[in-house]
Amino acid sequence: MTQTPASFLPFVKPEIDEETIAGVVDVLRSGWITTGPQNQAFEAALSEYCGGRPVRTFNSGTATLEIGLRIAGVGPGDEVITTPASWVSTSNVIYEVGATPVFADIDPITRNIDLDRLEAAITPRTKAIIPVFLTGLPVDMDRLYAIARQHKLRVIEDAAQAFGSSWNGKRIGAIGDIVSFSFHANKNLTSIEGGALVLNNEDEAELARKYRLQGITRIGLDGMDCDVLGGKYNLTDVAARVGLGQLKHIERFTEQRRKLAHAYFTGFEGSAAAKLGVGLPVADLVNSNWHMFQITLPLENLTITRAEFMEQMKERGIGTGVHYPAIHLFTLYRERGFKAGMFPHAERFGETTVTLPLFTLMSVADVARVCRAVDEICTQYAKQ
Ligand SMILES: *Cc1c(COP(=O)(O)O)cnc(C)c1O
Repeated sequence: MTQTPASFLPFVKPEIDEETIAGVVDVLRSGWITTGPQNQAFEAALSEYCGGRPVRTFNSGTATLEIGLRIAGVGPGDEVITTPASWVSTSNVIYEVGATPVFADIDPITRNIDLDRLEAAITPRTKAIIPVFLTGLPVDMDRLYAIARQHKLRVIEDAAQAFGSSWNGKRIGAIGDIVSFSFHANKNLTSIEGGALVLNNEDEAELARKYRLQGITRIGLDGMDCDVLGGKYNLTDVAARVGLGQLKHIERFTEQRRKLAHAYFTGFEGSAAAKLGVGLPVADLVNSNWHMFQITLPLENLTITRAEFMEQMKERGIGTGVHYPAIHLFTLYRERGFKAGMFPHAERFGETTVTLPLFTLMSVADVARVCRAVDEICTQYAKQ
């Protein structure tokens, strides 16, 4: 067994304050632990954050995406355009509702879906678009919605990583069509597991409520009825209480993440790693919430693989991650006709990307330590 150094820096770690922990204990003692008053309060607070739009909580960001598609009326025979560079749930949910995912390759600079390619992928069967704001960086929202309007397409924003991000001064969630957030443990705002859908009107919000719990329209002394095929996607009050405790800090969380991202850019500027071709993200310190800081490795200039690079980082007490291998290369997708070479930018990104530590409890000194480690490893294993 390898020993983990005491000062091990993980790539992500949630920040939960004592007030939240005490609040969770109160919920546990209250006698009502599943969906109830804490969820109502969480939905109200999220709605306020999103400019008053209706919000419904769910037990995962995957559930919100799937229900978002159902509310948009997406089903068998429909195509949904999305990016192959995302967490696999982004496109699994398209199959889940009986529709067909159509991928458009990423822009290698932003690492988000390339809007020219998205537009070129539209067919008469296209019903919706799922753009992903990878690491919290929004796509060009003006252009995205111009395309959606022109072709009469619904948009389900996969904003799982973008809570706290904005577009030209407007919060993600406060603008757009249907917006899907995840509150998974690693996300900028967590409820341990969870998610929320931001909707356009009360009819959509009511539909979301029904899909969330068995399609139930009424339940009580006068009997019970359900009128849509809903599932079991409700959030517990324990989880909602964690989310409420987090929401109080979201501005500070985002500020701290931007500060750390800035420190990464400073740390890599003119560095040996940069000279060897380590790729950096777009330096957007205004819109992005910096959910992650991802570099790409210049593997053609190094004598080690990505796995060996990550092992070297671990030996220096630094955790890293991979987000994400291109979705269309997974077995399920290959079996449905996708092949290597179809989306070269996403494939290359998936093969070379490494996520470096970035979380609110980190310091600028931690960032400097990570940059030094990347520099050392790249220098030591540079091809002559
Ligand atoms: C986390 C994530 C999801 C899914 O969220 P869960 O809450 O884990 O179900 C979907 N898309 C992206 C881009 C994500 O990062």
